[in-house]
Amino acid sequence: MVGITFLQPSRGTSMWVINIRHWLNESFTGPGLPQLKFKVQKLGEIITYATAIEAGIPVDVRPQCWRKPQRKPCAGELEISLNPDTKQIHWQCTECRDEGVVTGWSGLMWDISASSSEILH
Ligand SMILES: [Zn+2]
Repeated sequence: MVGITFLQPSRGTSMWVINIRHWLNESFTGPGLPQLKFKVQKLGEIITYATAIEAGIPVDVRPQCWRKPQRKPCAGELEISLNPDTKQIHWQCTECRDEGVVTGWSGLMWDISASSSEILH
């Protein structure tokens, strides 16, 4: 019998825990380094998705996995959840099970909850 194990965010796991602010420029409007552009873009999608759900805004399209196992783009979607207590956003791919946690997003331009009067398109 095959079960799915959900890793607990605790010491000793290899799960990514990213403070996105460490990857941004000084004004927190874009990547701090050119090679971080794609990663920042994907994390931005995750943050936007999670905070939109939290704000009660329905989002049709879930962010896609960005990994490329065997050089082929992973076809998985990301399962994303926001922990309201820790303000950590957790993601996990439905296919390759890549997962991580992003923090430090509150108040950034991807944070929908900070600008709930704006319409997401
Ligand atoms: Zn994947």
